[in-house]
Amino acid sequence: MITFYPGPSKLFPEIKGYLAEAYDSGILSFNHRTTEFMLLYKQCEALLKSKLNIPEDYAIYFCSSATECWEVISQSYNVPSLYFYNGSFGEKWFNSAKKINTRSFGNHFSVDAGLNTDNLTEQYELIGIVQNETSNGTHVNNSVLEELRNRFKGIIAVDCTSSLGGIKLNIAAADIWFASVQKCFGLPSGMALMICSPSAIQKAKEIKSNRYYNDILALHENYLNYQTTHTPNILNIYLLKKVMEQSEGIDKINKHIHHRAVDFYNYTDSLRRLKPMVADPDLRSQTVFALQGDAAFINSLKEDLRKQNIIAGNGYGQWKENTIRIANFPAIKDEEFEILKSELTKLAR
Ligand SMILES: *Cc1c(COP(=O)(O)O)cnc(C)c1O
Repeated sequence: MITFYPGPSKLFPEIKGYLAEAYDSGILSFNHRTTEFMLLYKQCEALLKSKLNIPEDYAIYFCSSATECWEVISQSYNVPSLYFYNGSFGEKWFNSAKKINTRSFGNHFSVDAGLNTDNLTEQYELIGIVQNETSNGTHVNNSVLEELRNRFKGIIAVDCTSSLGGIKLNIAAADIWFASVQKCFGLPSGMALMICSPSAIQKAKEIKSNRYYNDILALHENYLNYQTTHTPNILNIYLLKKVMEQSEGIDKINKHIHHRAVDFYNYTDSLRRLKPMVADPDLRSQTVFALQGDAAFINSLKEDLRKQNIIAGNGYGQWKENTIRIANFPAIKDEEFEILKSELTKLAR
């Protein structure tokens, strides 16, 4: 079976061996306040920083999911906040924020127009952006984020769940980045990373809202000892460390993913019954491709692919019926893309 599902997604094949190594190492039975665990956390953070090009002065915390990270941000920063969204994940984030912080506002933008920040005024102290909208295969690229960083002095929080580990992000261009690991990291589900700048931590200290076990302040206090607020997913931290050790680094991975995206989008020109959902190449995600077609065709296409042992991602939210989604994550091999293309040539030309 070849899966292109955008989460949970294909695991790196090495995970099988790492699982046995984790068991044999004994780390899974160590308490999370021991030096053994603290060393694992420290090594994992150092590897993440070097392999993903994360500035030295950012802190990395472990949470349970990207969904939890949405809440952590609203709980920690009870300030006027603006959330930009063009798809389901961004909208869910905004809805979760509103429940916790009544001063949360939404700014919807069209999938075909790209991020529009005209409404971003001085009154906001935090903004939320989904860098890679997994539901519709759009993204906000580094230069747009860099431009925002120059303009906006408050906290910039970025959901990069389906892109961190796959493309090169300019981490210095925002204060908070978070991602769960079952997408680009090729790991089992059940953990997320949260990467915070010194300004994000400073702002949390000024607000002093230490009301929940997973406030930024609580996460940070524990982090200073390489500990966690609660018993974490030690297995996934171990697996993440192993995956980072084997990683060739984000520059090379980014090049590969970008190359495969260009190749695949070009390839879709040859298909009559499927086309990229978004026309503007600058707005298309590099890591999740959304392809649109007639709803009845999409339905039969998914079944026909399944018969060939290929799993394509279902459409999501308002695009459920008339799109499929194809993950372009690092764990997926070029050969698997060649197989997918040859099947699509038969089925969708
Ligand atoms: C998958 C996804 C989430 C949710 O991740 P969980 O680990 O299920 O909480 C949030 N945001 C984006 C952009 C996603 O792709």
